[in-house]
Amino acid sequence: MATETHGRPGRPKPWAVGGRPKGVDEKTFARALREFAAIVGDGNVSFSPAELVPYAHDVIMIPPIWPSAVVRPGSVVEVQQIVRVANRLRVPLWPVSTGKNIAYGRMMAVEPGNVVLDLARMNRILEVNEKLAYAVVEPGVTYAQLYKHLRDQNLPLWLDPPATAPGAGPLGNTVERGVGYTPYGEHFLFSCGMEVVLPDGRLLRTGSGALPGSRTWHIFKWGYGPYLDGLFTASNYGIVIRLGIWLMPEPPAYQPILMTCDREDDVVAIMDFLRPLKVSHLLPSAVVVAHALLAFAAEAEYPRHLTGGTRPVPEDWIREQARTRMLGIWNIAGCLYGAPAVVKELTDVVRRRAAAELPQATLLDVDAARQSPYWDHKVRNMTGVPSMVEYSRLSWRGGGNAFVAPVVPLFGEEARKHMEIARPIFWKHGFDYIGEFIAASRDQHHVMMLLHKQPDEMARAEACYRELTDAFCDGGYLPYRTNVGFMDHTMRRLDPVFQAVCAELKRALDPNEILAPGKNGIRAAAARPARRGRVPGAAGRRSGAPRRGPGRPAQGAAKTRRHPAKRRGGLR
Ligand SMILES: Cc1cc2nc3c(=O)[nH]c(=O)nc-3n(C[C@H](O)[C@H](O)[C@H](O)COP(=O)(O)OP(=O)(O)OC[C@H]3O[C@@H](n4cnc5c(N)ncnc54)[C@H](O)[C@@H]3O)c2cc1C
Repeated sequence: MATETHGRPGRPKPWAVGGRPKGVDEKTFARALREFAAIVGDGNVSFSPAELVPYAHDVIMIPPIWPSAVVRPGSVVEVQQIVRVANRLRVPLWPVSTGKNIAYGRMMAVEPGNVVLDLARMNRILEVNEKLAYAVVEPGVTYAQLYKHLRDQNLPLWLDPPATAPGAGPLGNTVERGVGYTPYGEHFLFSCGMEVVLPDGRLLRTGSGALPGSRTWHIFKWGYGPYLDGLFTASNYGIVIRLGIWLMPEPPAYQPILMTCDREDDVVAIMDFLRPLKVSHLLPSAVVVAHALLAFAAEAEYPRHLTGGTRPVPEDWIREQARTRMLGIWNIAGCLYGAPAVVKELTDVVRRRAAAELPQATLLDVDAARQSPYWDHKVRNMTGVPSMVEYSRLSWRGGGNAFVAPVVPLFGEEARKHMEIARPIFWKHGFDYIGEFIAASRDQHHVMMLLHKQPDEMARAEACYRELTDAFCDGGYLPYRTNVGFMDHTMRRLDPVFQAVCAELKRALDPNEILAPGKNGIRAAAARPARRGRVPGAAGRRSGAPRRGPGRPAQGAAKTRRHPAKRRGGLR
C-alpha cells in the first residue's frame, strides 16, 4: 500500500476516486487501510485510480460505482481479521471471488466507497474425491483451473461450466445461484457444505460440517438442524471461503440433440415438447432454446446500416444470417448421457417423439453442426468443457450488455406470452430481442441480453431494463438474478414480510451492516417497521446507531453512537 501518500500536504488523498465509505471519517478510513495493510501486506491493498478501474466498471448500463480501495487476503485467518477491523471501524466490504460476474455488475458494489474484498488469491483446490465425485474449492479457483486439474490428474470427472469466461469460478457462480448445461446445471443444487466467515469474524461450517471432525461435510447436504447454506447465496450474510461441489462422473457415452425450428411461434410447440422430457428427467441436461439473434450475435457484425441504431434488425436479415450458419430461428441444444445402449435407446425415444410432436424441427448431424462456432460451444457446455465463444456477443452492438433473467413455468404458451411482453419493450426502446429459454426442470429461465452501445445508449438501456423488470414482476415472473443497479428495485417488488425477514436476518448477523450493503436489496434498515412516531427507514447504520444482534453485543463493536433523530431532540 502506498502509505506514503497519507496525509501529506498537497498530495491527493488515496481514496480520492471512490471517496471514503459513507459515514467513515478520513482519520478512521486511513486507520482502516493501515490495519488492512498490516494484515495482508502493503502490496495487497490498492486504492490508486488505475488499480480500481476494473472494480468500478462492468458492461451494464449504469455509470461506474467506484470502491474506495481493494484488499486481497490470502487466507481464511486474514479474511477473519479484515472483517473484524471492518466491523470495528464500520468500513463496508464487498466480497468477490473470481470477479467475472459480467453483465450483472462484475465486481461493482451497490454503493460507492465500499472496500472490495478480492478473494482471488485464495485459489486452492482443497480436495478432489474421485470415488465420491466431488471437489472442495476456495473462492479464487476458476473453472479453467479446476478443468485443468481434472485433466492433468486424468480424473474421469466433469465440471459444469457456465457459458462464460473460463476465468469465472464455481464458488462465485454458485453463491449467485448461477447455471450450467450438464445434468448438474443448477449449481447450488449440486453444491454441498460451506465454510463462511460471518460479519463478526466467526467461522461457520454449514450442513454436516457443523460436527467437529465431520466425515460427511461435502457429501451430505442437510446435516442436522436447519439447512443454512441457502442463506449465503444471493445475499450479504457472510463470506463463503470454502465450498463443496459435486462433479459429474464422466459418462461412458453421450449424445447431443441439436435441432432447429424456423418459425417464431414454434417456441410454443418446442417448450411443450420439452416439458415431459424435462419433468421426467429423460433429457437430463439443461436444454437451451436460443433465438437466432442470440445464437449468431457472437459471430455476425451488427448491421447498423439497416437500423440506424434505433430500430430492431429486420427479420429477413436475421433469417438470412441464420441460414448461412446452420441455425434456425429457434435453436435447441440438449444432451443424453449414460451407457452406450441406454443412450442409443434414449436417442431413439427423443427422435421418435420429436417426429411426432415437433415435426417442423430439423435434427442436425452433430459432427456437421460442430463446424459452427455456436453449436460447437453448446456441445462443449453440455460436456463439461469451459468455452469462451459467448463472450464475443458483448461486442455485437458496442460493448454493453445487461442480462434480464425472469423465471417462467415450462409451458409453450408461457414462452409465447413472455415473447409478447418482452419484444415490444425491447423494440420500443430501439433494441433487439436477443433471448433464450433454458429449460431446467419445471421452469424455463428466460435469459435476455440487452445489448447496447456504451456510453451512448446507456440511459435508453436503463429505461428498457426497468420497464422489462416491472413488466415481468407485474406478470408474476421473478428474475432469478439482477445486476447491481436493480437490486433494491427488485427487492422492493417482493412481499413486505419477505423483505422484513431478510432485513431481520441482516440485523442479527451483521448489525453494523459492514458486508455488501444493499446486495440483493438486503439492508439492515429496510425491515424496521415504520412505527408511529418513528421516521421510516431512519434506523440503519447509515443513519445512526449500530444495531446489535439479539442477546449479544456485536463483536469488536466500537462505542455506540446516538441515533441522529435522538440527537435532533427525540423521535418525531
Ligand atoms: C456472455 C456471458 C455468458 C454468461 N453465461 C452464464 C451462464 O451460462 N450461467 C451463469 O450462471 N452465468 C453466466 N454469465 C454471468 C457470469 O459471468 C457468471 O455467472 C460468472 O460465473 C460469475 O462470475 P464469477 O464466477 O467470477 O463470480 P464472482 O464475480 O466472483 O462473484 C459473483 C458475486 O457473488 C458474490 N460473491 C462472490 N464471492 C463471494 C463470497 N466468497 N462470499 C459471498 N459472496 C460472494 C459477490 O456479490 C459477487 O459480485 C454470463 C456472462 C456473460 C457475459
